[in-house]
Parts: sequence; structure tokens; C-alpha cells
Amino acid sequence: MNRKARIILGCLILIWPAVSLLAGETPAHLKKAVAAIDPILPYQLARTMASAEFAGRLTGDEGYTKAARWAAGKFKEWGLKPLEAKTGYLQPYPSPYTLIDESAMTLYLPDKPGQDGQPVNQKIELKPEKDFLPLFFSDSGDKTGELVFAGWGISAPELNYDDYAGLEVKGKYVLCFRGTPEPGRAEFQYHDEHRTRMKTARDKGALGLIYIYPQVQANPNGDWLQGFMPAMISEKTADAIFKEINSTTAELKKALQTYRRPISFPLKSKLAYSVKSRHFPEGTGYNVAGWVEGSDPKLKKELIIVGGHFDHCGRHLGLLFPGADDNASGSAVVMTLARAFSTSQSKPKRSIMFVLFGGEEMGLMGSNYLAEHLPAGFTQVAAMFNFDMEGEGDGAWCSLSAEPPALREAVERANQEIDIIRGINVMRRVGVRGSDFAPFFLKGIPVVSLGSNGPHLAYHGTGDTIYRLNPEIMGDIARVSFLSIYYLADR
Ligand SMILES: [Zn+2]
Repeated sequence: MNRKARIILGCLILIWPAVSLLAGETPAHLKKAVAAIDPILPYQLARTMASAEFAGRLTGDEGYTKAARWAAGKFKEWGLKPLEAKTGYLQPYPSPYTLIDESAMTLYLPDKPGQDGQPVNQKIELKPEKDFLPLFFSDSGDKTGELVFAGWGISAPELNYDDYAGLEVKGKYVLCFRGTPEPGRAEFQYHDEHRTRMKTARDKGALGLIYIYPQVQANPNGDWLQGFMPAMISEKTADAIFKEINSTTAELKKALQTYRRPISFPLKSKLAYSVKSRHFPEGTGYNVAGWVEGSDPKLKKELIIVGGHFDHCGRHLGLLFPGADDNASGSAVVMTLARAFSTSQSKPKRSIMFVLFGGEEMGLMGSNYLAEHLPAGFTQVAAMFNFDMEGEGDGAWCSLSAEPPALREAVERANQEIDIIRGINVMRRVGVRGSDFAPFFLKGIPVVSLGSNGPHLAYHGTGDTIYRLNPEIMGDIARVSFLSIYYLADR
């Protein structure tokens, strides 16, 4: 080692204690609390949530309600205070829902000359889950109609964009992609919501709307509309349809993205689609919430909300969508944090409320409801932490509000101890694909959103089972979050 290096090293040794004090050594009592977080707890909680007993936790359905009561029981067992002294841990809100019992879909591709020269209709029976799925808010029916391709399925004359211009869709099925011609443009957001797209197609007289997705996935995010039968087909299935115009799904999508102008046309292919479903307009959804009181007589009137969505897509057509990663894993992290804060000897200055939201998969229903009906008795919500999909991978990503800087400082300080967050980005706006932090962000409440780095391969599929989850990643995310929340709540 040369002299210069020795001097530098000497200086580093001298300033090291100061640096680590500034950065904030983790206090012994917090180290102890973090060490007490056992990754097996979130794993076991997620396993229970993803079990067949709770039927995929579709908000409004009895499987969800049963799961909500089970979680409320855990909050009680761990000593959390109930959301309302009178009504307990459950916050009810209206939540209509639909169950799909049976469905079949058959494609009739245009006539081709057969061996004897006579036209032959090519008939393709589609397989549920592999080739197609009804959207989980479809009305019952049995209808055959021609297909019409309508780009992104957007009619926005006010933005000088209309996929339906010059198109006759009455008595036909509208075929389209999910997305917008300009993904970065906020004005298109409203038109990218499933509800807007369904209503547009219905109002123009379509029998239903058929989404093209890379892979078919569960989707309960929409309203039941009388006589309207929406569904989703895979890109592979759509490729079979586009053969009649010598094109492919990839080619059409690329053209829409490149030219940003509508590409719409009628097709000769016909679709026979039947659904048997049950709609429950009077369903009730529940947020599950319990809290831990802060230690400071004044600051305990301020609240930090720690939440994640408890619901998933349910059971339809005899298929269970267990939602282990999405979002039994995030709910399990929230519950683990609830237990850790409730049973820890040292409490931070501010109070912390733990919430398992209903209806996220239906369009952020539970978190919107809570944001509009904030718990009484608190002066303000100082921050909101959201957990959505924490079960797969070996690292975490974090996205947070720019203000206050204490948010980022708390997360960075916590991560010095746990070292699991691989990147932090600043949230500038929320889009239609946001999670439960969105209603709070829109109210100006500082938010932090955490997720594991994936791969989340079975997203909204029957394969999202407990076997995909890794206890260690849930444990590490719970640990880094415990410290982040503590630092923020105690400053
Ligand atoms: Zn989710």
C-alpha cells in the first residue's frame, strides 16, 4: 500500500463512525424486532389465503367474506385496535359481483374451397383458459355474430381519435387490443379503462367486446351490463382470425403503435359465444383494518396507512384463481407487519393502520372507499405504504412520492440494514394500471409502493399458486418495510 492510499484509508477510518451515525445505525431494539420477523409467517398466511377454502377471494363472494373474517380474527389475536370500536375490523361497502358457471366459444373462419370445390367452413372449438375466457362480469347469453376489428376499441372524438369511425358494429362482436394510441398521454387514460371500453362497444350496439391479450388471463374489472358478453382471446387465437386478411396480431399491433391512427375493418369470421353466469348486484365487499397506537401524545393523532389488496379473481368455470403472488403475498406482508408492530415493545410516535383492501381487481374499489371514508379521530394521513405482489424473485423495487424527502430517507436507511431494494423511482402520476396507492396519491398523501422483482409469470392465471412463492423474499420485504415505516412514523 502506498502512502497516499494509507492516508485515504486513515481518513476513511476516522470519518466512518460519523458517516454511519449520520446514515443511522439501526438501533438495537429495532434490530431485535426485525430479527423476530420469521419468513415462515407470511408464507403460511399466504398459503391459507390462496387455499381452495377461500375460492380465489372474489370480493362480494362468500369465499372473500370468509377470508376477511379470518384476517380480522388474526388482527384481534395479535392485539390490534379495530377500525371502529363498534363495528370492529371490517369496513363494508357495496360490491356487485358476477360468477361465471359455464362458457363455450367457437370460431367459424371464412369458407375455403374444399376438395370437391364446395366451400367448407372452418370450425375451431376454443378451449377455456388456453384460448379464451369470458371477462368475469359477462351477462349470460348464447349469440353468434361476425367479428369487427376496432384497433384499441377507443372512441374519443374530443381527442380526434375514433377506432369506430365508419364502422358498423351492431349485432357483431368488437375485437380489439388493450392500450391507447399514445401510452404517455394522460387524456387517453379514461378511454383505456375497461369500463369505458365496454360501455362504448355496448352503446354502439355490439354483442360483446373480445380483447386480444398475449395470454388469456382472469379479469373481473368491469360492470355487468345487461345483454353484453365480453371475453378475452389469446394472440394465437387472434392470429387464426387474421389469416383471412393475410395479417397477424403482431403486425396489426405494430401498425397501430407506429402510425397512431385507427386501423379498423369488418371481418368475415364469425364467433359463436355462450355464457351462463350469475350476477349479484347486492354484493358487499369488505376492507379489513386494524391499528397500532403511536407513543407520542400529540403525534399519535397522525396516521400511516399500510395496505395491500386482499382480493383476487375468484373461481369460475370450475377454475380456481388462487392469487398467491397477486396478492396473498402482499396481504401476508401487511399482516406480518401488523403483528410485528403490535407485539413489538417499542412503538413509534405516530399511529399505524394496517388495511387489507377489497375489490382492487375490480378497479381499486376498496382503497377508493377507504380514501373517501378515512378513519375518524386522526388529524392527517402522513403516508401510505402499498404492497402488491411480493412473493416471487430475489429483490424488490420501490416507487415513491417525491415529497417529503423523509420518505426516501426512511426507505434508504432501512435498506442499508436489509439490502433487498434494487431500485427506487419517483412516482409522478398514476395510470389505469396502478394499485391501491392511487386513490391516496390523488389525494396528495405521500405514498410508497413496494413489489418483488418477479417474474410473476402466472399473473391472473390458475398457476398463481403457493408453489410459486418464496418465503425469503416476503420476509426480507417485511423486514425492510418494518424499518422504513418505523423511521417514518417515529421522526
Ligand atoms: Zn394485484
